[in-house]
Amino acid sequence: MVDKSLRASLDHEQLLSLVNSMADAVVAVDNDQRITMYNGATLNLLDINSDLRGEKLSHVLTLNDQEDKEIDLRKLITSITTSFVSRNIKLVYPNGETCNLYISISPVHLSKGVEVTKAHVLLMRDITKEKSLEQERDEFISVVSHELRTPVTIAEGNISNAMELLSDVKQIPDIITKSLKDAHQQVVFLSNMINDLATLSRAERGSLSVDIERTNIRELVSELFDSYKKAADEKGLHISEHCDTNLKLLSTNRLYLKEILQNILDNAIKYTDNGKITIQAKKKGNSVIFAISDTGHGIAKTDKAKIFTKFYRSEDYQTRSQNGTGLGLYITSKLASLIRATIDVESEIGQGSTFTVTVPDFDSHID
Ligand code: ADP
Repeated sequence: MVDKSLRASLDHEQLLSLVNSMADAVVAVDNDQRITMYNGATLNLLDINSDLRGEKLSHVLTLNDQEDKEIDLRKLITSITTSFVSRNIKLVYPNGETCNLYISISPVHLSKGVEVTKAHVLLMRDITKEKSLEQERDEFISVVSHELRTPVTIAEGNISNAMELLSDVKQIPDIITKSLKDAHQQVVFLSNMINDLATLSRAERGSLSVDIERTNIRELVSELFDSYKKAADEKGLHISEHCDTNLKLLSTNRLYLKEILQNILDNAIKYTDNGKITIQAKKKGNSVIFAISDTGHGIAKTDKAKIFTKFYRSEDYQTRSQNGTGLGLYITSKLASLIRATIDVESEIGQGSTFTVTVPDFDSHID
């Protein structure tokens, strides 16, 4: 039988070689935030050769936030009770150079007899390359969507004009009318996609501003109803609206709120073949709750968690028979977080779905 202390030292050796073989920098600090253990990758990342054991973490690690303000590391670590993860922190070298870091900090509770001490483990990785690739991609999307906008708008306008002119002409072959209608539908789809991409790149670069205005909710709901009535009628769907009578003004960003509700309504109509769509708004405390229900295809339980992720589209044939990019709900969730709104989904396959959007009042005050 292997002796207990030998076993423990073997375990310790194994653990050390495991941590040392990791590509990410791993640093453990004690209660006093002095370094108790680190691996080779830490020396590489920090570009240091000396022994770090016993050093104060704040003496060897300088971190800045995105605005290049120094982070109080001591305060940050002390405040962490569960776990902290960020991709928006910069490591600052003594010569002033910086690199973008992925950093995760987790508390570890070690018991020494009955006394429990609190230590922390930091895991760090240089993500400068990834970050600059992400920035390049966002810039590319932003430029392309901007350049595509003008020709697509002109094409849409010309097709609309042609449809308008031909509507007065008798004996036009059906095939021409149908071709123009199809071309118009596809150009509108393209134009929506370009708008989605532009909003997406701005949202990801964090360059969307949140201008708050007093928004008349009853007016907004009735505007939405009017603009979706035609699309619902064309599919033979009944659409209705209901607003609580005590609902008037909400301080929020009207544009984003409208885009959130439009994206949900677009889907309600797109993924419903028969039945009805309802738009409801009611007041709850300092928030307004919007509920958009449909009697459509429904969303599978396994899909529910994924529909807000980028480019996600359900695999089922009914979804795939409709045009879509899988960006609508991703953008919706980004906009929702800008106005501090939350979105819940209830759905049953074959029965329909209800998207509930809870929007708080920025001034915490509803008239
Ligand atoms: P898109 O509609 O372009 O595919 P979205 O991000 O708007 O992208 O939606 C993601 C997916 O969520 C859709 O592909 C569809 O599978 C599902 N979905 C969203 N809304 C509904 C709805 N009201 N009914 C059924 N499925 C929906």
